[in-house]
Amino acid sequence: MNAEKSRTGQCLCGKVKIRLVGEVHDAGVCHCSMCQRWCGGPAFGLGGDYDVEIDGEDAIVYYRSSEWAERGFCGTCGTNLFYRLVESGKLMAHTGTLDDQSGLTFKSQIFIDEKPDWYAFANETENMTGAEVFAMYAPKEGDQG
Ligand SMILES: [Zn+2]
Ligand SMILES: [Zn+2]
Repeated sequence: MNAEKSRTGQCLCGKVKIRLVGEVHDAGVCHCSMCQRWCGGPAFGLGGDYDVEIDGEDAIVYYRSSEWAERGFCGTCGTNLFYRLVESGKLMAHTGTLDDQSGLTFKSQIFIDEKPDWYAFANETENMTGAEVFAMYAPKEGDQG
């Protein structure tokens, strides 16, 4: 058996523990107004091809933020854990939940057109506007997740 790649993480209080199994190497930022409100700033998500194992599912509260997505957070400490597409179950965990964030590549920024004007990341990234994101993943025009 090959040594499987994985990264572990948890919420602030520790009731929810996650294990990401597979390729977790990219970090991406979403500047959309919904993520801003939910995270208290831009959302930092983990890209790659990985499965998520959750320990402490009972502690997670889900907020259905759109027709196609929901956002999971710890009901005790409020840590914003992940964004999940309802239909596919595809889940995007947040970088900040990881125990060790070393070795990640800051790859992309989405909803760049909704980024507030008071900050800008110096990293060279692939940037997409909200319209470009919807054109690529296309649930519905003019709606956010
Ligand atoms: Zn917690
Ligand atoms: Zn967003």
